[in-house]
Amino acid sequence: METSTEGAARTGTDDSAEAAVPAGRTEAVAPAAAEAAGAAEAVAAVAGGRAAGVAAAVPPASLSPSRASDFMQCPLLYRFRVIDKLPEKPSEAATRGTLVHAVLERLFDAPATERTAPRAKSLIPGQWDRLRETKPEVVELFADDPEGERLARWLAEAERLVERWFTLEDPTRLEPAERELFVEARLDSGLKLRGIIDRVDVAPTGEVRIVDYKTGKAPRPEYAEGALFQMKFYALVVWRLKRVVPRRLQLVYLGSGDVLTYDPVIADLERVERKLLALWEAIRQATETGDWRPRPTKLCGWCDHQAVCPEFGGTPPPYPLPVREAGLSSAGGPARGAAAG
Ligand code: SF4
Repeated sequence: METSTEGAARTGTDDSAEAAVPAGRTEAVAPAAAEAAGAAEAVAAVAGGRAAGVAAAVPPASLSPSRASDFMQCPLLYRFRVIDKLPEKPSEAATRGTLVHAVLERLFDAPATERTAPRAKSLIPGQWDRLRETKPEVVELFADDPEGERLARWLAEAERLVERWFTLEDPTRLEPAERELFVEARLDSGLKLRGIIDRVDVAPTGEVRIVDYKTGKAPRPEYAEGALFQMKFYALVVWRLKRVVPRRLQLVYLGSGDVLTYDPVIADLERVERKLLALWEAIRQATETGDWRPRPTKLCGWCDHQAVCPEFGGTPPPYPLPVREAGLSSAGGPARGAAAG
């Protein structure tokens, strides 16, 4: 098993395509709904309707929480993002999420006693400048706002989200072991998992807490399990990396002022691993056959790719990878049980 961790400057992604979450960092909605919808339907959706193409793109080599959720939500969406790498427009919500994450991360550069709400808010203009430099495409968000009124409202909302964090956590009493931690672990099966963890706290006793900030609102209770999927994914990676099961998983919802926690046990992580292996097998089969069926849901409203989606009268671009006939034997056989666990 190969494992690695390293610090990573967030650019709004936890893998190269992570920023493509439909509602940006209101991301709790998409994984939650995707989880609720279940992986089984996603696997079932990968059948028939292949498109021929030529070798040009690279098959997927690893899985992140967001891409796993993409596939569960809609296999065709996964294809557009991971295989075709179709461009997506930046959204105000996603960009604000990236900005707020950067501010919360940078605040921990200051001595503990100086980690105040005014200090945090004072970081916003500089981090916004930096974001525009590193991701010039975000500038277009406000291209039609010459007076800067919408930008001012957008920045004010970012301030509110940052302020709300201080009602949920006290950064003067926190000393994160890691911030924006890029993690990657290769399981014994060969599947490589990767992602970026917002914050890792380690208690003097050695207990590990994984924290993720969400700038959206907490999901309804029936979607809580879906929201925790990402956290269990990270817990699995940390378990594989450090051989320590995180004591607590904590989702901090700045949009609604809620904190969702879960204390995982090994059985949880083994279940997630089985589920991810089944998902990966389904993705591998779809990659080989070119069968990526659309799976329309209300989340299509957030999808940038309706123009090339058959569900909306569009035609996908030619499939850029070599394909084999669906039904021909493959090393792994048919995908089964992607909803394992
Ligand atoms: S519009 Fe809906 S069905 Fe089509 S690719 Fe996007 S998410 Fe999938």
